Amino acid sequence: MKILPGRTPGSLDYRENDMSQQHQDLIDRDRKVTFHASSHLRDFAHGDAPGRVITGGQGITIRDKDGREFIDGFAGLYCVNIGYGRTEVAEAIYQQALELSYYHTYVGHSNEPQIALSEKIIELAGPGMSKVYYGLGGSDANETQLKLVRYYNNVLGRPQKKKVISRMRGYHGSGLATGSLTGLKAFHDQFDLPFEGILHTEAPFYYHRAAEQQGMSEREFSKHCAAKLEEMILAEGPETVAAFIGEPVLGTGGIVPPPEGYWEAIQAVLAKYDVLLIADEVVCGFGRIGADFGSHHYGIKPDLITVAKGLTSAYQPLSGVIVGDRVWKVLEQGTGEHGPIGHGWTYSGHALGCAAALANLAIIEREKLTENAAETGAYLQQAMADAFGDHPIVGDVRGVGMLAALEFSANPGKRETFRPGTQGGAAHRGRGPRREPDRPCHAPG
Ligand SMILES: *Cc1c(COP(=O)(O)O)cnc(C)c1O
Repeated sequence: MKILPGRTPGSLDYRENDMSQQHQDLIDRDRKVTFHASSHLRDFAHGDAPGRVITGGQGITIRDKDGREFIDGFAGLYCVNIGYGRTEVAEAIYQQALELSYYHTYVGHSNEPQIALSEKIIELAGPGMSKVYYGLGGSDANETQLKLVRYYNNVLGRPQKKKVISRMRGYHGSGLATGSLTGLKAFHDQFDLPFEGILHTEAPFYYHRAAEQQGMSEREFSKHCAAKLEEMILAEGPETVAAFIGEPVLGTGGIVPPPEGYWEAIQAVLAKYDVLLIADEVVCGFGRIGADFGSHHYGIKPDLITVAKGLTSAYQPLSGVIVGDRVWKVLEQGTGEHGPIGHGWTYSGHALGCAAALANLAIIEREKLTENAAETGAYLQQAMADAFGDHPIVGDVRGVGMLAALEFSANPGKRETFRPGTQGGAAHRGRGPRREPDRPCHAPG
């Protein structure tokens, strides 16, 4: 993303009592009626956790009700790849809405933006990819993935091959099945998850996990991860393991690029036991790490790909499941044997989402934002390392492209994490939520 020169962002350290009455009134109304995602429900409802009303955005900044501007380093939830306020996308949505906002895409009905978008996605995804199925968000797309994996093995006459292996600290959504895929405690506890048949293997988290395997190099740690995966497949019985799902770079679980040689080692195990590979590209897709897909950057050859977030830069909700040739062939065979597939969302291939995606991808291509993310990203990583590498409370500086993280540590030499309730962040206001060690990093606090 291009840095806009000359902007003066507001202070991040403002307090709610600096807010206008109008802004406070809006927040008070919100507290009474809105259930916020990943929030402390009681504290927010009772005025013990801060609120903020966002009213606008331009480029890399967002603006609140009082006109304060903030640099949005997170790009929403790492989804606004082209930045805020791109009128070209708004115009595309408007023009499509005048023409046709919606018609369903069941039984062969289509719309022009859907057709053009599918062509574009297949072109970007590269060889081996065949068809795109649309949804509205990453969670529903991964739900589709799980259903396709079952369908695939039933058609192939392997009804026992159904288990799916995900990773600890992976993030794949927040539904029942997709929350099960997610490897974070907060998404399981109190919801009786994960579902049976969804397993979690070693996280590719060199900084934390290799510390326990003293002295391992990155390559050795990658081999260790692959060995743990193989161990799990053998313990479960390869004839019962259908698929493996992973983000090319762990996102919500901590912004963790894979250790050297990781994907090569993992893919060798999957091939050996005929296990499908689902690449969850919801964060990495469409330029964020300086390649069209994270899979291209790391030499991953997935059977199925999940996309959302950067697909539309969040100007409209839209997700996609990209089905590779190997799976597609079996899906065709299945409908030959069993009739039309029993899967569909009312809003699959929504014309406004597809129009927004096309305008978004056109901007990414025209402005060379993917190349820019590679170039600016290399600078960002270097600048982060220079600025914070030796900082006394920074244990790790990591990232790739325009994804970067600092990991705070109470004792960097020993990779100790801060104990809950003792660290900075939101807690500096004296009432922030305690940060659990596996708290998802898109949650406030
Ligand atoms: C955000 C995310 C999802 C879930 O997407 P939603 O649109 O929130 O349902 C799935 N996978 C990854 C890797 C994500 O980052």
